[in-house]
Amino acid sequence: MRAQAERRRVVLATHNAHKVSELREILSDVTAALGIEIVGLDEVPDAPDVIENAVTFEQNALLKAASAAKATGMPALADDSGLAVDVLGGAPGIFSARWSGGQGDAANVKLLLAQLSDVKDRDRAASFVCAAAHALPDGRSAVEVGRLAGSVGRETRGSGGFGYDPIFVPEGQGNDQADAGRTLAEYTAEEKNAISHRSRAFRALIPHLKEHLSS
Ligand code: IMP
Repeated sequence: MRAQAERRRVVLATHNAHKVSELREILSDVTAALGIEIVGLDEVPDAPDVIENAVTFEQNALLKAASAAKATGMPALADDSGLAVDVLGGAPGIFSARWSGGQGDAANVKLLLAQLSDVKDRDRAASFVCAAAHALPDGRSAVEVGRLAGSVGRETRGSGGFGYDPIFVPEGQGNDQADAGRTLAEYTAEEKNAISHRSRAFRALIPHLKEHLSS
């Protein structure tokens, strides 16, 4: 393994320090093997402010990664994610963060619960979706999608995580009754990382990272 000082830096297209440390955890084995270090946009000069104006998770993730690579001259990573509710035809989807018009997570959750108030338990299936993209300054890029299937509960439970975690119950997790109904906000960070849409998308991206960054 190369020394820390010699590690090649790869920029994650986000200003969110929590996302940077989460991705370092998710890809720790790969970054060690490839001798790379993941940094956020706050740690590099000339960081771009990217407007996410595409209409799919994949396009938005590619847009963010490509513009970060172009602006910084560094290999870049980016993601775009959200909650897709079956009975709403995949909404909130790419609009997840702004579902209540930019009023924040609690308002988004409250609005979604109200919209689903008459929907029966068996029809409340949903998935968290994440597109993870990688781009190089020379224009090469790749994108992969990860999903976590589950359902939307009727009330908030738990204090961990963020966004829609307090109302999302992952499917088929845990072997006993007590565990089976937990929301993602009742998972530890390690438990969530092991199954999350984000970790599945970035783990699926590993072959592309190896191909592009191993030389
Ligand atoms: P972003 O594109 O990763 O910033 O996520 C967009 C929005 O999707 C977030 O603001 C959340 O509302 C929702 N979201 C994405 N991933 C998660 C998650 O893991 N838990 C809860 N909400 C999420």
